[in-house]
Amino acid sequence: MEKREQLYEGKAKKVFATDDPELLIVSYKDDATAFNGLKKGTIVGKGVINNKMSNLLMQRLEKAGIPTHYVEELSERETLVKKVSIVPLEVIVRNIAAGSFSKRYGVEEGVVFDSPTIEFSYKNDELGDPLLDEYHALALHLATFEEIETIKKYSFTVNEQLKAFWRECGVTLVDFKLEFGRLSDGTVVLADEISPDTCRLWDSKTGEKLDKDRFRRDLGGVEDAYAEVMKRLTAHI
Ligand code: ADP
Ligand code: UDP
Repeated sequence: MEKREQLYEGKAKKVFATDDPELLIVSYKDDATAFNGLKKGTIVGKGVINNKMSNLLMQRLEKAGIPTHYVEELSERETLVKKVSIVPLEVIVRNIAAGSFSKRYGVEEGVVFDSPTIEFSYKNDELGDPLLDEYHALALHLATFEEIETIKKYSFTVNEQLKAFWRECGVTLVDFKLEFGRLSDGTVVLADEISPDTCRLWDSKTGEKLDKDRFRRDLGGVEDAYAEVMKRLTAHI
């Protein structure tokens, strides 16, 4: 597989073309941003951890019947993925109140829901990724009705799989963000990444935050937290 030109540089990853029009290479950076890019920093070693973690979790999800973009890990920071046209929705699944949910609805962080919730944001940096519902997504032609149904079904399955897996690692899966995309034949697959950048992960015993909230909220020990969840994951996968 030959790496060709850089197509895109995002906040956390770079995307490269390959000699196969259906395949891309993603390269994970140590750059960290929060609050729609307002806060910037570096988490040393993050790219290596997120690449490996995302790949291990996507392979596990494939086995559970979720189609993903994962093809092959190429190096510590680089992965070959199926090229998709990203559905411009950030899909957020929550098991426990935290972050923007707690703020918006005035619910204390840590309140456990009776059943998981799902919500969508319009993936649009200029607009600040505004929250929207399915009718808005349809009106804006962001996805079809069938695609939204598929995305919801996959997202709840991903939640059940990841929740059970993280529980074995002594980690509570609080919430997470997924992105989906369409292959050239229209098939919807899970894309982007699953990592401590995109999930809230709390130590099951102590409640300690082991994710990007340590960076967002200046809690310190950011690198150690990423290393700790990675260590627990590799011990159980
Ligand atoms: P952002 O664009 O939010 O700054 P990243 O730095 O993570 O995010 O950049 C990676 C970009 O690549 C994202 O826009 C993401 O939607 C996109 N992407 C992820 N997986 C794929 C894929 N398989 N095919 C095409 N684009 C993808
Ligand atoms: N999230 C993400 N990217 C975003 C917004 C949210 O990966 O652009 C993840 C975040 O890490 C958390 C979940 O989605 O695991 C829910 O985030 P929330 O809506 O509470 O927003 P935040 O508090 O991060 O602003």
